[in-house]
Amino acid sequence: MNEMILLKLGEMVLKGLNRRSFEDKLQANIYRRLNNLGQFRVYTRQSTTYVEPMDGGCDMDGAWEALTKVFGVVGLSRARACEKDKDAILSAAREYLDDKLSAARTFKVETKRADKTFPMTSIQLSQYVGGELDELYPDLKVDVHHPELTVHVEIRDYAAFVHADPEPGAGGLPVGINGRAVSLLSGGIDSPVASWMIAKRGVALEMVHFFSYPYTSNEAKEKVLDLARLLTPWCGRLTVHVVPFTAIQEELRRSVPQELFTLVMRRFMMRISAQVARRCGAKALVTGECLGQVASQTMEAMAVTGAVVDLPILRPVVGMDKEDIVKLSRKIGTYDTSILPYEDCCTVFTPRHPRLRPTLEELEAAEQALDIEGMVRAAVDGIERVQV
Ligand code: ATP
Ligand code: MG
Repeated sequence: MNEMILLKLGEMVLKGLNRRSFEDKLQANIYRRLNNLGQFRVYTRQSTTYVEPMDGGCDMDGAWEALTKVFGVVGLSRARACEKDKDAILSAAREYLDDKLSAARTFKVETKRADKTFPMTSIQLSQYVGGELDELYPDLKVDVHHPELTVHVEIRDYAAFVHADPEPGAGGLPVGINGRAVSLLSGGIDSPVASWMIAKRGVALEMVHFFSYPYTSNEAKEKVLDLARLLTPWCGRLTVHVVPFTAIQEELRRSVPQELFTLVMRRFMMRISAQVARRCGAKALVTGECLGQVASQTMEAMAVTGAVVDLPILRPVVGMDKEDIVKLSRKIGTYDTSILPYEDCCTVFTPRHPRLRPTLEELEAAEQALDIEGMVRAAVDGIERVQV
């Protein structure tokens, strides 16, 4: 073993959440993400999680890539292991960090010593390595207060490690530490971003997708499953509940005033999602709604759609500009799939003049003749669960 990955943990000074459960959850998530990349040992000391390969068969590049997407990690560094000897440490620093040492103008060496039997103190070792590097790189000056580059040395029980400053991690909180929510995933740009944002706050997700075959094609469904797959490096494995929605939409088209169609339909989405939430122990719903983006996303529309459930509805992109949502979707890697041109169930029956300022009374009147319970039950009974 000559390399390992160090993770700096975020928000460790959590109020209310306990540090131990944070670390345990994070560690379990890390093991799961590294599952196919080899045998690793993962442990945490003082807000740093150490990810060590157990043998030469570990895919370190793959592990690094996977770990950049683990919520709860604020920074990552790749470290080189070497013998616990001051000159071995010096040459490891030269070889491993040569690019960085050549590019920086100022630096310092910082040593942490877990093995107290090491013959030099942390300060002595930092001074030794720093002094030698200072001579080896003539353009490089020591600056202990504001260095451009910090060379980190760690003396652990079985080896020494050298690494540079951490690179930014995914941030947020370990998935699962804040419970579970059901996210309404369409094929659009917004809902994958909304899902990602809530997962980042430590929430495990289950996805619900409303599918209106044959009005929307199997390709449209595959696209949504692909979007869910693209989220798994961040969220972990996901269950997508594919809800057959055609019968409800046809019934609503027959019996609901056209200008209220979308809103009544969205109320059914909420009712069905709440049932799914109840079954999987989720405590909130998540949508990609954004204020003013379309007719069904006015405050009045949100009020009447939210009125049919007693779960909180989390709308993390509600105040974001489309441009910023797009930027995020590119960053998380869902954009190119989101813009593939398939119909969504919402667009299929969309009325030309939807009601912008609906009232609850209007909607309740429009729904009066419907067998709401029966329609919801039939849809829930028809759910197909897909694991991605
Ligand atoms: P998106 O880009 O996420 O599709 P949108 O701007 O197209 O959002 P709408 O189509 O009005 O907005 O949908 C608003 C939200 O309702 C979506 O973000 C999503 O959370 C949910 N939603 C819409 N259609 C579906 C669907 N077919 N299955 C599951 N959820 C849906
Ligand atoms: Mg949409």
